[in-house]
Amino acid sequence: MANRRKDALHKCSRTLVNRCGEIYVGNVSSLKLVKTTMAKSVLDAGWGQLKTMLDYKCAHAGIVFKEVDEAYTTQTCSNCGSLPESRPKGIAGLGIREWTCYGCGVTHDRDINAARNILAVGQGCLAVGIPVL
Ligand SMILES: [Zn+2]
Repeated sequence: MANRRKDALHKCSRTLVNRCGEIYVGNVSSLKLVKTTMAKSVLDAGWGQLKTMLDYKCAHAGIVFKEVDEAYTTQTCSNCGSLPESRPKGIAGLGIREWTCYGCGVTHDRDINAARNILAVGQGCLAVGIPVL
C-alpha cells in the first residue's frame, strides 16, 4: 500500500508540475490533522508527501512553488473578496459544499472557491478578488 500511494503521489505531482507554471498550496498542517478524527484520511491522502514532492519537482523544473496561509480561504468569496454572513463557518460548516455569497450573489463550490483564494493569496491579489467568469 505504501508503494502504491507513493507511486500515485509521484504521478500526480509530475502531472501538476508538467501542466502548471505556478503551484500554490495551503499551509494545512498534516501533523495537526493526524491528531484529529480525520487522521486516517490525511494519512491515506499523503498530503505531506505530496507537498514535499511538489516542492522539489517544481524547484527542478524552475516553477514557482509556494505554501501560503490558507486561513479564511474557504470562507472568503473569491469573486468579491468579502466574508459574507452566508459563508460556511467552523466545524458546522464542513458539510456545506456549495454556498452563495450575499455580497455579490455568486454561488461557489466550496473547494473551487478555496482553491481560487489560495491562488489569489499566492499571487498576492486576495484583496481585490478574482472575478468569476
Ligand atoms: Zn461575493
